[in-house]
Amino acid sequence: MAKPISAKTIVFAIIIIVCFTSCQQRQGEQALQAPEQAEAQAVAPPLFLQVLEECYGQHFSVLDTNTLRWHDGDSLLLDDGKQKNCQELIHHADIQDQFHYTYPKGSKMIPTDSCFDPGRIRNEPFFQKMYGETKEAVKANLVEVAWGEERLMVNKVNGCSDSLTKVVQQLHHLPDSLKQFVFPSAGCFNYRTIKGTTRLSCHSYGIAIDINVKHAHYWRWAKNKDIIKYKNAIPYAIVEVFEQYGFIWGGYWYHYDTMHFEFRPELIKYAAYE
Ligand SMILES: [Zn+2]
Repeated sequence: MAKPISAKTIVFAIIIIVCFTSCQQRQGEQALQAPEQAEAQAVAPPLFLQVLEECYGQHFSVLDTNTLRWHDGDSLLLDDGKQKNCQELIHHADIQDQFHYTYPKGSKMIPTDSCFDPGRIRNEPFFQKMYGETKEAVKANLVEVAWGEERLMVNKVNGCSDSLTKVVQQLHHLPDSLKQFVFPSAGCFNYRTIKGTTRLSCHSYGIAIDINVKHAHYWRWAKNKDIIKYKNAIPYAIVEVFEQYGFIWGGYWYHYDTMHFEFRPELIKYAAYE
């Protein structure tokens, strides 16, 4: 006669079946996830492209790892493949070159390398595509931002005017002794080339502001431009407020411009991620 199956054996068998089923289920889930994860790892974009997409991705799609396709159908190369010296970086920058030097956010550093101008390296078409390709096109994107007693015209694209509004609200909380550095401003929108060049200034897009010129230092004002001696009177507490809302400071450039702040959230993010 067959021996009756004990309760202990039945419980053991149930445990085995449950474990086997859940194990199989987990393997199935892994099988579903694995190809996606592998693909994500294989096509992970470089850091600079990630921050470009985060800050400006509403304007373009990434066609391949070297091409941005703008919504109007135009394309721009990220990397032209050319090796450049520091003059060439300034005058013939591609989009990737804009990240050549990491912006030293919050570092209080004094630039000593004569090539170190993070943010001064700009690919003009990249900015024109977003903020306006002509003076009239830029003007159509400008909105008013209250700056103390003044009304500045600032580009609303990419949240630039909203960010400057947050900057000025924050600046009002600073001690009165610091307010003299920012009020009155020396202007925001001004469709013009950079002094001594044929390249458009970021003021042309309404995304840069010059704070009170009375306390400013600018490398072009130096008597001997061959030996640039760094000068700055702007307190870092002011710089930190601007950086918090995506603006870089011209006082971190070897070719310093200490009254100049420019909306470049991609460089602030890149610095934070690196
Ligand atoms: Zn400026």
